[in-house]
Amino acid sequence: MPAVAAGPEIERLIQLLARLPGLGPRSARRAALFLIKKRELVMAPLAAALQTAIDKIEVCKICGNIDTQNPCTVCTDTRRDPSAIVVVADVADLWALERAHAINARYHVLGGTLSPLDGVGPDDLTIDALVKRAHDPSVHEIILALNATVDGQSTAHYVTDLLHDAQVKVTRLAHGVPVGGELDYLDEGTLAAAIRSRTPF
Ligand code: ZN
Repeated sequence: MPAVAAGPEIERLIQLLARLPGLGPRSARRAALFLIKKRELVMAPLAAALQTAIDKIEVCKICGNIDTQNPCTVCTDTRRDPSAIVVVADVADLWALERAHAINARYHVLGGTLSPLDGVGPDDLTIDALVKRAHDPSVHEIILALNATVDGQSTAHYVTDLLHDAQVKVTRLAHGVPVGGELDYLDEGTLAAAIRSRTPF
């Protein structure tokens, strides 16, 4: 049995920190030590922020974003274009698009992508709610901003089929050369997709 250097309370803190994405046991130990050393400056405000998050954060009943108000800030923002809905797999993708100031539209979070291997089927995602939203007369375009992976693309095809009856244009993100990318370093799949998705100059 390994020697225990700290009491159970500290060990528990380390174990919980180690569950965070990107943190292994070693970095969890360092993070715990950092928090303990900066008890007043970092740990107490962090604990308060976590408690506030537990008390106030909700999943938006319209789009699936997470926020302290429901419907969320994005859904209630009247300056946003109501005619386009950007479909993303995860809230992290929504936040990434917002960080990029990519589009001033509304969103729909599916809650993942279809993945038979992981047992994720259509009923596990918010696809029905998306189809319902797409039938709203004010919606003209559904933008599928899903990962360029097999699961992401099969989900995009599945959703597109279901949107057949809605009076909307269905679009997807372009696939191809990343900004700042050098052709010689790209894989063949990306290069072929870039050629297929070429646009007028
Ligand atoms: Zn929302």
